[in-house]
Amino acid sequence: MSKYFSRKQGELKAYVPGEQPRNVQKFIKLNTNESPFPPAPEVVNAVAAAAQKANLYCDPTMLKLREDLAGIYGYTPEYFTLGNGSDELLSFAFLAFCNQEIGAAYADVTYGFYSVLSRLYATDTKIVPLDAQYCINPEDYAGLGRTIFIANPNAPTGIALTRLQIESILQANPDNVVIIDQAYVDFGAECAIPLVEKYDNLLVINTFSKSRSFAGGRVGFAVAQPALIADLETVRNSINPYNVNSLSQAAAHAILQHNDYYMQNCKVVARNRVYLTKQLDALGFTTLPSLTNFVFTKHSSISGEQLYQKLKEHAILVRYFDAPGICDFCRITVGTKEQVDALLDVIRSIL
Ligand code: PMP
Repeated sequence: MSKYFSRKQGELKAYVPGEQPRNVQKFIKLNTNESPFPPAPEVVNAVAAAAQKANLYCDPTMLKLREDLAGIYGYTPEYFTLGNGSDELLSFAFLAFCNQEIGAAYADVTYGFYSVLSRLYATDTKIVPLDAQYCINPEDYAGLGRTIFIANPNAPTGIALTRLQIESILQANPDNVVIIDQAYVDFGAECAIPLVEKYDNLLVINTFSKSRSFAGGRVGFAVAQPALIADLETVRNSINPYNVNSLSQAAAHAILQHNDYYMQNCKVVARNRVYLTKQLDALGFTTLPSLTNFVFTKHSSISGEQLYQKLKEHAILVRYFDAPGICDFCRITVGTKEQVDALLDVIRSIL
């Protein structure tokens, strides 16, 4: 830390992303919940075409993409905005809907970026424990008087609330914004976007990073009633109106033109998840019921850290969290059938 840093020691605790190894081809990479499937070829062509016009600024209103999203999800373009990954939209949401008076609330075991942002923006925060089955209990979120952040499905557990349960949280907090971060929704959970029409306090945050094979392109989108979106837009335009660059905008447009390809890939991943879970069961693992592209799993004869280390020695990367209550587990991204089988072979040899 330099003497110029304007923050007090320990005030910030930066997010630690999963490993992104340089020699990535050496590994089976199951540690950051990316898609194992490449972008559709048209996406690559769209990026190449957009690169030729990269001397010009991109469209700061992202109108074409908001129209595309309106076509897929219903509503009008005023219901949408986009971010440089959904992480940026989460950051905008903290800035728009939390401050020292309006605190935040989220689960004790959930996406790690919420606590990073809450510290960054000095937000008063209530941590709500998961229940004994690692589930979010909607009743614990009734009338908290805070902005609520829920990853649905939750990460790293993979467990999802139903749309009815989300509605109960929305109804119990009519004067506060409820953010549903549904990064993994396309792999089988109930989507909250249809609820936007009914609830003016709902903000749904989504990403192209998982189901749409575009983690490196950094595109996320938010859906809410126009008044909430206008608040996010005020924040976005106060930080970086060109937050989604022209190459990523062109790619995202091409991705949405080929939405069926991506949704089909999600079905393959969901099938592989069921297969992986069954095989892990047979090997004595306990795996939480996931509706995502990853499983959270533990075994009585090997710790989460040991399994992570052993798999790494065999060139398979998974994620391990050194945190209370979950350090027995590993989070393993569901890849192709070939990747799943290679993983299972190595796990058998380790056990
Ligand atoms: N929300 C959750 C629950 C996540 O797991 C992630 C991925 N790390 C994100 C949001 C952020 O994704 P991205 O910024 O790539 O859109």
